[in-house]
Amino acid sequence: MTDRDPLLMIPGPVELSPAVLRAQATPPPSHTSAELIAAFGRCLRAMRAIWGAPDGALPVILAGSGTLAMEAAVWNCAAPGRRALVVDTGFFSDRMARMLSRRGVSVDRVSATPGCAVPAAQVAAALDGHDLVAVTHVDTSTGVRADVQGIAAAARAHGALVVVDGVCATGAEPLHMARDGVDVVLTASQKALGAPPGLALAVFSPRALEAHAALSAPPPLGLDLASWRPIMEAYEAGRPSYFGTPATSLVLALDDALAEILALDEGGRVGVEAAWARHARVGEAMRAAWRDLGLELVPASEDIAANTLSAIRYPDGVGPELVGRIAARGVVVAGGLHPAMKDRYFRVGHMGWVSGRPGLLERAVDAVRAALAG
Ligand code: PMP
Repeated sequence: MTDRDPLLMIPGPVELSPAVLRAQATPPPSHTSAELIAAFGRCLRAMRAIWGAPDGALPVILAGSGTLAMEAAVWNCAAPGRRALVVDTGFFSDRMARMLSRRGVSVDRVSATPGCAVPAAQVAAALDGHDLVAVTHVDTSTGVRADVQGIAAAARAHGALVVVDGVCATGAEPLHMARDGVDVVLTASQKALGAPPGLALAVFSPRALEAHAALSAPPPLGLDLASWRPIMEAYEAGRPSYFGTPATSLVLALDDALAEILALDEGGRVGVEAAWARHARVGEAMRAAWRDLGLELVPASEDIAANTLSAIRYPDGVGPELVGRIAARGVVVAGGLHPAMKDRYFRVGHMGWVSGRPGLLERAVDAVRAALAG
């Protein structure tokens, strides 16, 4: 249990476990040391397990945030002149659409009203010669979870590459790349994986690697899988290698964070499946707590509400000042983010390590209750 005051309950960065905190505080190892090579290799293998990577997939860890992981997916898998369909649920799908446009890809969108998801059938109906479909698993701006499985099936039936932004989902919301037929799943270290900010993570399927191999316009050298693939392969094989200096302290922290997910064993489930079940339970409990306080959620229905965060409407007569009043009670939550409704709701993150600490979750609910009362 952390004594930290205020308690950080935004949708990332998140509170860290004591082991992860200790790992990031050790003196940075050399990127060619045995310690770092072993930790990096374990991280890449853990990603294969947590992502459900298909055989022949390439896991990649870069120094950078989730936005860099999005760029890596776009630059390595989308070619200028090709066509993409973006499932647009809010702030981060809009970012993905803009990145694809800058890559010279022709972008169509199938958009949801804020708080709603786009049904897979609507995506299927919009598909028309698209080479790539991009979907945000959990839209952090609305707390809406997409039907990635249904959308991936529709996109695959159409022959399109499926790119999932899992930044607010991976490690907490069910997705298995191999079973679900997904080609790229990207995320950042500071969300459901439970590590500090600063690492961009992605797994590329063999189909995604084929798309990269077929590119006639290569990505910038520092983002190119051709630059990083030999490095990742070396680390996984236990050999030193260098292209750019990795964020060595963060890799040590990530190693502990991913090991904690894989070590979960509860309710008859182990590893990431236990993490999915735990987040589902916590998401439901948090939504019940908000309803008990008389609050309404942004997601239009329970089945599309994300389990990693709650997006909660301000009640009548209350506005963004509530966030400050909650902070004054020792808990940091986030304001709204979706441009269409930014000042009408706030967000509480409940992913990663805190999902296994009921006392901390209660502390967040108590702070919101007290802030609403006065
Ligand atoms: N996609 C989603 C769904 C996100 O929630 C975020 C960050 N909140 C990003 C992308 C961008 O990640 P970062 O802030 O780490 O660059």
